[in-house]
Amino acid sequence: MSMPFLKEEVASLKERGVFTEQRVLDGPQLPTSVVDGKKVVNMSSNNYLGLATHPKLKKAMIEATEKWGAGAGAVRPIIGTNRLHIELEEQLAEFKGTESCLVFVAGIAANRGTIQALLSNKQDEDAVVSDELNHASIIDGVRLTKSKRFIFKHKDMADLEAKLKEAQGARRIMVITDGVFSMDGDIAPLDEIAKLAKQYGAFTFVDDAHASGVLGPNGRGTVSHFVTQGKMKYEDWDIQMGTLSKGLGCLGGYICGTKDLTDYLRHAARPFLFSTAHPPGVAAACIAALEVVQEEPELVEKLWDNARFFKGALKELGFDTGRSETPIAPIIVGEEAKTMEFMRRLYDAGVMGVGIVFPTVPRGAARVRTIVTATHSREELQYALDALEKIGKEMEII
Ligand code: PMP
Repeated sequence: MSMPFLKEEVASLKERGVFTEQRVLDGPQLPTSVVDGKKVVNMSSNNYLGLATHPKLKKAMIEATEKWGAGAGAVRPIIGTNRLHIELEEQLAEFKGTESCLVFVAGIAANRGTIQALLSNKQDEDAVVSDELNHASIIDGVRLTKSKRFIFKHKDMADLEAKLKEAQGARRIMVITDGVFSMDGDIAPLDEIAKLAKQYGAFTFVDDAHASGVLGPNGRGTVSHFVTQGKMKYEDWDIQMGTLSKGLGCLGGYICGTKDLTDYLRHAARPFLFSTAHPPGVAAACIAALEVVQEEPELVEKLWDNARFFKGALKELGFDTGRSETPIAPIIVGEEAKTMEFMRRLYDAGVMGVGIVFPTVPRGAARVRTIVTATHSREELQYALDALEKIGKEMEII
C-alpha cells in the first residue's frame, strides 16, 4: 500500500474521539427522518423552510425535466445556459433588491469563484479583510488569491477599522463576512460594516447562505433585514452571495450585485466558466422556491416561532446556546470527545444533532449544533428537548 499515512490519519481521528461513520438518510429530508434505519427528530438539516420536499418544487422539477431533459449538457458560457437559468437569475436579483444576479452550481463555487475573480493573483496587490469566523468556502476563496489577508475579530468593529487602516494602499480592498454565522447563528452588523468600508474605500461582500429564506421580509436576507430596519439602503452593500440549497430547498449558489459585477464574473469566475450548468429541473425548482417564499410568508413566521420556542426552552434548561440570534441553536459543550458522545447518545435517544469540533470551531468550543425548521411540530421539538434534558443532566452538561 502506497499511502500508509492514511491509516495514521484515520487512527488520529479515532484517538481524538471525533471519527464518525457517515450517517445515511433512508428517506426524504423531513423534521422526523429515517437515518440508518432509525427514526429520529432531525435537528441537523439546513432545510429551514421544508422546501426540499415542498410539492411545488417537486412538481416544477419533474415538469422541467420532462420538457428540458435531465442534464444541462455544457458549461454555462458555452451552451449550458437555458431560459430557466436566466429566469432564475432575474427573479433572484429582484428578490435581493439588486440589478443583476449570476447563479453558480453551489455556494462554495460562488464564493471561491467570485473572490478569486475580484482579487489579484499578484502578491499583496489587493487586500481582503475577513471576519475570523467566516465560512470555509470564503477562506478557500481568499487562499486562491495572493491578496494581503487581514482577519478581524468576530464582529468587532474597532478591530475591523484597525485592519482597514492597515490595508490602505492596496489596489482593491474587500471586506467579507457571513450574514448569519453558520456555527453560532449570530448576525453580522452589515450596517456598521458598510459605513466603515465606505470610509476606507473598501467594497463589501456578504455570504448569506444561512440568511436566505430565513432573515428579512420573506427571507430576503441580511441586507434586506437591515434595510427594513431603516439602518441602511440596498445600494450601501456591494455583493450579496447566497445559496439555493438551504432555506430555498434545492441546490446552487448565487452572486447578486450590479450588472457590471455579473458581466465581469461571467468572464472571470472559474467555477462558472469551467463547471457544467445546473440541470434544468434544479433551475425550475429554485424558481418555484422563490415563488413559495413570497406566496407563503407564514413559512418564515413559523420558522422564527419555532426558533423562539426551542431556544427559549434550551436556555430555561440551562444549556449554553452562545450568541445565537437565528434558528441555528448551538449547544456548547466545550470538550471534543464529550461533544461527540453527547451527539451519539442523542441519536440513540432518537434526536439528530451534529457534533462540531476543531477546526470548524475554536478548540474548547465544541458543540452539538441544532437547527430548528418551519416544519417541526411542537411535539417534535418537545421530544428533542426532553431527550436533551435527560442526557444533558446525565452527562452533567446542565
Ligand atoms: N457559505 C456558508 C456560510 C455555508 O454554510 C455553506 C454550506 N455549508 C456554503 C457557503 C456553501 O454552500 P453550498 O452548500 O451551496 O456549496
